[in-house]
Amino acid sequence: LIARISVTLAVFASSPARAYDADVQMQQSIAIVGAIVQLVRAQIASLGAPDVRAADAQISFVVDDTPIPNAFEQNGVIHISNSLHVMFLYVADAGVENAAHQTFGACGDAYGTYLTTVVSQNKVRVVKGLPLQAVKPPEEFIALSQPLCAGFEKAFPVSAELRKWRDQRVIDMIGFVYLHELAHFALHHTGVTDAAIHAALGGIQTPQALSELARSRDQEFAADAWALRQYIRMFGPEPNLMYYDLQKTMTIMGNSFDCTHDVNSTHPTGIERYAALTSVYRDEFKRKIGYDVSPQESDLLNDWVKFSKHARDGLHCESAAPVPAMTDPHDYGNCYAEHRCFASPAPFKPLAGTKGPGK
Ligand SMILES: [Zn+2]
Repeated sequence: LIARISVTLAVFASSPARAYDADVQMQQSIAIVGAIVQLVRAQIASLGAPDVRAADAQISFVVDDTPIPNAFEQNGVIHISNSLHVMFLYVADAGVENAAHQTFGACGDAYGTYLTTVVSQNKVRVVKGLPLQAVKPPEEFIALSQPLCAGFEKAFPVSAELRKWRDQRVIDMIGFVYLHELAHFALHHTGVTDAAIHAALGGIQTPQALSELARSRDQEFAADAWALRQYIRMFGPEPNLMYYDLQKTMTIMGNSFDCTHDVNSTHPTGIERYAALTSVYRDEFKRKIGYDVSPQESDLLNDWVKFSKHARDGLHCESAAPVPAMTDPHDYGNCYAEHRCFASPAPFKPLAGTKGPGK
């Protein structure tokens, strides 16, 4: 839990709960991301291990206004996009509502699947130079996703009381992302060449490009582990981050359920990344708190990974007819009943006409 400071609160206070305005929100986001990172860096300076402080002292930070949620480190400069912040706001909106009302689960899971789909499709659209799809905030998604989301029409924008917790969760997520990018710098990671990126996008896959991509994926695992380790050592194990926000974020950002995602990518899938983080979390929890993660919490970590792998296998990405992507919120109206909401706790069933997992 990264402690809030007044400068951050002052920025948040300027965004009262009201009808959603995409342009205004994106503009405010630029200032908010800057304020949050300033806060995170101040806490690194006071709480960070010597090597973390030393790395951060050499880093510059800029808010990126690229339209797809993104963060990267290049030549000692960390970039985090304001659109990533907006996506985190939506993830955290759903997270606090989920914690406040258990019945929000199915609707919230469908919203997570929707975010995953839009983000992965926008990545393809960027490559092809097509206009991006706007990401709908929860209230707009809910209005369209009936009857699944019935009863939650007035739950968003979230109440002032919930907004406090929502904002805290956004700070923690941006903090993790910042530490991940700082890790690339601190661990002297190398970027990938254009040839490797081209190979990852389906171009010519030379042995050299493939080995570069494999190294890049290893570096992503290493940066995730470093970031979570440093986060917990500085701020303690934060359950909301580990048990909800990171799961959702990794799924959304990690092409977890995207059949066009090449296995020879620059990044591992979100499921693989989250699975790797569970062991870091267990180790660091014990180091910080002095005893093991409870069996119940341990089951939660395992269950999500198992369920996600199961769901991923159910997609059968190798089949000639890929699973149609769902971008229209109307598609989610009855996905729970049909077991199409991948992140839902319902037992996963393979889609009709495909071979099921384990066969
Ligand atoms: Zn990375």
